[in-house]
Amino acid sequence: MMTLDSTFLLDIRYATTNNFTGEQMYDCGKCYLREPVAELLIEAHKEFKKAGYRIKLFDCYRPRPIQYKLWESVPDPRYVARPWKGSVHNRGGAVDLTLVDSTGKELEMGTPYDFFGERAHQDFKDLPADILQHRSLLTETLRKYHFSPIRTEWWHFDYNKNKLYPLSDLVWDCN
Ligand SMILES: [Zn+2]
Repeated sequence: MMTLDSTFLLDIRYATTNNFTGEQMYDCGKCYLREPVAELLIEAHKEFKKAGYRIKLFDCYRPRPIQYKLWESVPDPRYVARPWKGSVHNRGGAVDLTLVDSTGKELEMGTPYDFFGERAHQDFKDLPADILQHRSLLTETLRKYHFSPIRTEWWHFDYNKNKLYPLSDLVWDCN
């Protein structure tokens, strides 16, 4: 993504220990997506930038060997997709992201990334008005570019036609 649009911010948490497993999963943090997915995300980013925001990416394509590693660390289907079934991340058709303002500060979304609980759900409305407005800005803008939210994670969006893509085992090169 960064070679196509270097104005995205990257905070690939699975390349650090700052994620819910507490373990580093990727050798380095990169954001790969299927080409049409990347192009649509760049279009959405243009719209966010016009409004004074930028996208910060937490996770993009996730190689399936890493999905197995995640599953070994947290073998709970509520939090980690079963690797033999695979997730949309494993197809290169999903992104985890948030928005930052013009000073680079993340917009308040009510929970941190990878917070597993009701408060992170899209239909959880018992939140201050500014947080609801941030979430709806994120969701409604991305919808226009063919991304759909999932019910339980405000940060996760699936490209609507992700089933076009197979699961992938490809692991990127860090050199
Ligand atoms: Zn996700």
